[in-house]
Amino acid sequence: MSEKAVKNKAVFLDRDGVINRETGQYIFETENFVINEGVFEALSLLRKQGFMLVVVSNQSGIARGLYTHDHVGRVHDLLRKEFTARGIDLAEIYYCPHHPSAGKCLCRKPESLMIEKAIARFNIDPRQSWMAGDRERDVEAARRAGVKGILIKANDSLMNYLGVIIPSGE
Ligand SMILES: [Mg+2]
Ligand SMILES: [Zn+2]
Repeated sequence: MSEKAVKNKAVFLDRDGVINRETGQYIFETENFVINEGVFEALSLLRKQGFMLVVVSNQSGIARGLYTHDHVGRVHDLLRKEFTARGIDLAEIYYCPHHPSAGKCLCRKPESLMIEKAIARFNIDPRQSWMAGDRERDVEAARRAGVKGILIKANDSLMNYLGVIIPSGE
């Protein structure tokens, strides 16, 4: 078997409502970025099971002029810092800065370009991979990329959904 034939598996994660507290407002200041209960524990377990972790987030507030790429960068620096401090390796964070009012893009979920980029870049097998999100559009983006979707309740502990991805006994 060639090296290329060995594919990675991944869990794609929506950001707001899955990793951090969904407040109903745009989250672009680090002081409003509060990581949800169960996230570190769940993602550590997924890493131990060999899943790559990839964040895919719609951030249309940029196109709407409510905040900038710099704001998103600071929030994501904080996210990476919190994960690194707990030994959780995050493969990448993708975000879509567009809004449909300024023209349609291919990355804003329910479009699947962010997921497909990661699949190509990290040699991921979509059939062994999952996407967890708190909106129907997250699950739809997963479906379009051939990844299994998990709809979670906003701000619910990811630990409550781990049994779907990791069958018990493993
Ligand atoms: Mg969300
Ligand atoms: Zn986009």
